[in-house]
Amino acid sequence: MLEKYRDFIKKASEMGLKAYFLDVREIPIENRTSLKCAYGCKSYGKRLSCPPYITSIDEFRKIIAEYTSALLLVDEHVSIGVNDLFEAWSKFQNDSFHKMFELEQEAFRSGFTFAHLLRPGPCNECKVCNLQNCIKPEMRRFPPEAVGINLHKTMEDSGLVLEFCKPDKISCIGLLLLE
Ligand code: SF4
Repeated sequence: MLEKYRDFIKKASEMGLKAYFLDVREIPIENRTSLKCAYGCKSYGKRLSCPPYITSIDEFRKIIAEYTSALLLVDEHVSIGVNDLFEAWSKFQNDSFHKMFELEQEAFRSGFTFAHLLRPGPCNECKVCNLQNCIKPEMRRFPPEAVGINLHKTMEDSGLVLEFCKPDKISCIGLLLLE
């Protein structure tokens, strides 16, 4: 792994994020993930960060083919004593997004011109998403699953176990494309 990626893993760690280097060619992209969005996710059609408002899986396959490297980002939150897990999860996702977004901006400033974050969960910058016109377009990012990335397999390939939600810990997962 090149030194410039090591520096970013260190920076991520300083922000409280665990970061794992990925060869982008190894990231599994599968059409079947669209089932999880369209049938069963309450954000489908309600958030501009989610299908059907975002880049399609086929378009994303072409886009990601132009990248070589990425960092898998994991942010762990302690959830002991949390009463409302869904409300807490939304806040944790937002906190994690802001850290990861800062890392993306730092990557851009460091010369990774095409640095692009795939955020943890749907965008929840606004309580209700303004479907007519994004309120914060500069922060609009989509989650990895929404463009077909099989996160479970991506994590397994990095030697990690995907445990979104344990009784004492909630993990928020993002992916930073670097080029
Ligand atoms: S910033 Fe607001 S309007 Fe834009 S995608 Fe996010 S929630 Fe929707």
